[in-house]
Amino acid sequence: MSLYMEQIKQLVVLQRVDSEILSLKMALEQAPAQLQDLQKKLEYLEHQAQIIQDKIDIIVEQKNKLEAEINADDHLLKKHKNKLLQVENPKEHHAIVREMDTIEKNNRQRKEELSTVLSDLRDLEDRKASLDHDTEEIRQRIAAQQDQLDDKLREKRERLEILLKEKERATQAIPAPILTRYTFIRERLEGAVIVPVTEGVCQGCHIVIPPQNYIDLQKGEQILSCPYCQRIMYWDKHFAPQEEEPPTVAA
Ligand SMILES: [Zn+2]
Repeated sequence: MSLYMEQIKQLVVLQRVDSEILSLKMALEQAPAQLQDLQKKLEYLEHQAQIIQDKIDIIVEQKNKLEAEINADDHLLKKHKNKLLQVENPKEHHAIVREMDTIEKNNRQRKEELSTVLSDLRDLEDRKASLDHDTEEIRQRIAAQQDQLDDKLREKRERLEILLKEKERATQAIPAPILTRYTFIRERLEGAVIVPVTEGVCQGCHIVIPPQNYIDLQKGEQILSCPYCQRIMYWDKHFAPQEEEPPTVAA
C-alpha cells in the first residue's frame, strides 16, 4: 500500500474511532444522569407520601377522638336508659329524657362527622397506596439500573481504552499537518471529516468538485480537501473502508 493510501486508511480509522469515543463519552456522562432523574422522582414521591401520611395521622387522631366520644356517650345513654326504668318521679323522668335527647343529638352529629372523616381517610389511604406502589416501582428500577450501571460503565471504559490506543496508532501514521487539518474540521463540522468522492461528487457536501481537483485526487499523491466544505476527501475507487462493525456496547 502506498504511503498515501496508508494515510487515507488511517484517517478513516481515526474518524471511526473518534466517533465511537465521542458516543462512549456521552454514554458515560448520561448514564449516571438517568439514574439521577429516577432518584429525584423517588425523592419527590417519598415527599408526597410523607405529606399524605401526616394528613392521615391527623385524621386518624380525629377518628379515634370521635369514636371514643361516641362510645362514651353511647355508654352514658345506656346508663340513662337503665336509670329511667328505676325512676318513678315524672319530673326526674322528664329531666333524664331531655338529657338523653341532647346526648343523642350530639352523638348523631359526631357520627356524621365520623363518616366524613372515614371517607377522607379512605381517600387518603388510597392515594398513599398508589404512591407507595409507584415508589416501589421506581426503587426497583433504580436498583436494577444501579446493578447494570457498574457493569456497563466498566465495559465502556475498557472499550474506551482500546479505542484510545487505536487512535494513538492511527495518529502516528498521519503527518502532523494533515492531523491538524483533520482536528480543525472535526471541531467545526458536523458528521464526517474524511469523505469519499463518488463520480466527482464530494459525499460531504454533495457538490461536484472542480475537474482539476478530481484529476489530482485520482492521482493519489497527496491528501486533498474539498474546496467547498473543506472535508478531507479520497476517491472511492482508491479505497473502500471495510464495514467493520465495532463491538456493540449497549447504551
Ligand atoms: Zn465537500
